[in-house]
Amino acid sequence: MKSAYLRSTLTGIEYPFARLEEFADNGESLEVAVPGVEGARLRPGARAWDRFAEFMPFEGAHPELSLGEGATPLVGAGPLLDEYAGVDGLLLKNETMNPTWSFKDRGSIACSIMAAERGESLTATISTGNMGQSMAAYGARAGLRVLVFLPDYAPREKILAMAVHGATVIRVGGADYTDMKTRVLGLSSRLGLRIVSGNGPVRVEGYKMEAFELFEQLAGEVPDFIVVPTSACGHVRGIFKGYRELLAAGLVPRLPRMVVAQAAANSPLAGAIARGSRRITPFKNFTTIAEALTSGNPPGGEELLDKALEFGWLAGGASEAEILESQRLYARAGFFVEPGTATTLAVLRSLRASGAIKRGDRVVISLTGSGMKDMEVAGRHELDIHDCAIGDLEREVESLARRKSVSAS
Ligand SMILES: *Cc1c(COP(=O)(O)O)cnc(C)c1O
Repeated sequence: MKSAYLRSTLTGIEYPFARLEEFADNGESLEVAVPGVEGARLRPGARAWDRFAEFMPFEGAHPELSLGEGATPLVGAGPLLDEYAGVDGLLLKNETMNPTWSFKDRGSIACSIMAAERGESLTATISTGNMGQSMAAYGARAGLRVLVFLPDYAPREKILAMAVHGATVIRVGGADYTDMKTRVLGLSSRLGLRIVSGNGPVRVEGYKMEAFELFEQLAGEVPDFIVVPTSACGHVRGIFKGYRELLAAGLVPRLPRMVVAQAAANSPLAGAIARGSRRITPFKNFTTIAEALTSGNPPGGEELLDKALEFGWLAGGASEAEILESQRLYARAGFFVEPGTATTLAVLRSLRASGAIKRGDRVVISLTGSGMKDMEVAGRHELDIHDCAIGDLEREVESLARRKSVSAS
């Protein structure tokens, strides 16, 4: 059988699987073509990477490189969030339970496997934080040197974590993130170095596993909508590619529709999708608390607009106030997510209000990253925190216990 190769997503130009550059020469996103995927079947195995091995382009599943990523819970959102979103039986795929507390670990294991199978010893990445933190951890596991290029607004929690894992961190001051990303990615062929970004084709293969897990957890039922907070586009591409391959293999009868959630302050994709456009509207010089979603002009993003039109995807942008409100509601329902992730609830609520999504639709939201990764933003909420001298303890406890509600709002 022909082995895996790369294919540009709009014009179908083929490249070797081992290509170092993450994009086609014309700038399009690349995806891995896995020949024979129509005949792929599940194998027995304790790990999803073993069960779905026939869907993957690698030589092996490399359990020795795993930090225990994936196998994340799919849980009911609960009455508070069902009511806020206006959807019955809303489901949350809790990706904050990955080893570095974001879904990025699913892509990092794929990058780690690629490096191991190619005998590469150094990798570089451009990140607003989570990808760098994740690659740093997987590099530590694999014995791979990791360089991370960051914008200077990346949260301290993420920067310190990746540096503790042993990565070399380069903070780039005053840069537009997209500009910085294009410059760093441009060094790849000159330096003969694999530089990985959030939309790389190998990383996207790892994200497919989230779709495969949903397929198993929902016993084959296909969600009507999957809401994904989106920046570089790799995650939403990966989940959808996973479902397309399940469809090709005859394991599901149809595809879910994806919902692209962004911050209104930086909504190059959501804006275009809402208008039914094939052209990205680049954003520059914006500020948003959703710092994980700061690709203002995502390279290769036109593919997403194309898919959105072809497959009826939805999209929306959440205001800064809505992001904070959604973060608070998630937390009150027991889920502490980072601001970028919180865009999802506000976007779902407005698509529900507009009638694009119905109350009875089966909706899954991917909770992409943990709130612990950005405590500065958490401090902006109204919080019920009291300071008390030891001598006043009894009086304080008594008065608080009598209070009707423990809610700060
Ligand atoms: C990276 C990231 C996203 C965006 O994913 P892309 O693949 O870049 O579109 C969303 N949420 C969190 C928490 C992230 O770290």
